Amino acid sequence: AEFQEVSLHDGIESVLILSHNLLKHRIKVHKEFGEIPPVKCFPNQLNQVFMNIIVNAAQAIENNGDIWIKTWAKGDKVFVQIRDNGIGIPPENLHRIFDPGFTTKEKGIGTGLGLSICRKIIEKHNGKISVESEVGKGTAFTIELPINNTFG
Ligand code: ADP
Ligand code: MG
Repeated sequence: AEFQEVSLHDGIESVLILSHNLLKHRIKVHKEFGEIPPVKCFPNQLNQVFMNIIVNAAQAIENNGDIWIKTWAKGDKVFVQIRDNGIGIPPENLHRIFDPGFTTKEKGIGTGLGLSICRKIIEKHNGKISVESEVGKGTAFTIELPINNTFG
């Protein structure tokens, strides 16, 4: 858990290598990487966030589908958006998905802890995580992080 200045793209690439077996044949990953500066962060923790969201996206895609990973910078912030064309989230669940223990998955598959941990990690980095979703169309998670984190 070292505080470092790193490229988020390197972290995303390593998460994609780790999740390769889960995604191959079934899911096409589209990288839309913008020009973003290195970010001061706990890289292992941010990689855990990317991993959780990518695994959720893969689980939301029933047969074949796509995951788009887009990055961009604006002002003193960087943004990472992970979007899928999976089953989507019904509006009545949208405000609950970050609650610890909330899951719609069968016992043994989902613990409902993934997104609550993601939110904790992002908030610890003085960032924000938000979601947009449409049933039958897909889901997009957007993470916003300050470039020069002070962890104050
Ligand atoms: P878990 O994956 O163990 O169920 P999470 O905290 O990771 O727990 O996610 C909580 C719930 O949010 C999931 O059970 C699912 O209903 C919903 N969810 C999260 N990501 C997606 C997604 N990409 N598409 C559809 N539903 C999602
Ligand atoms: Mg999960």
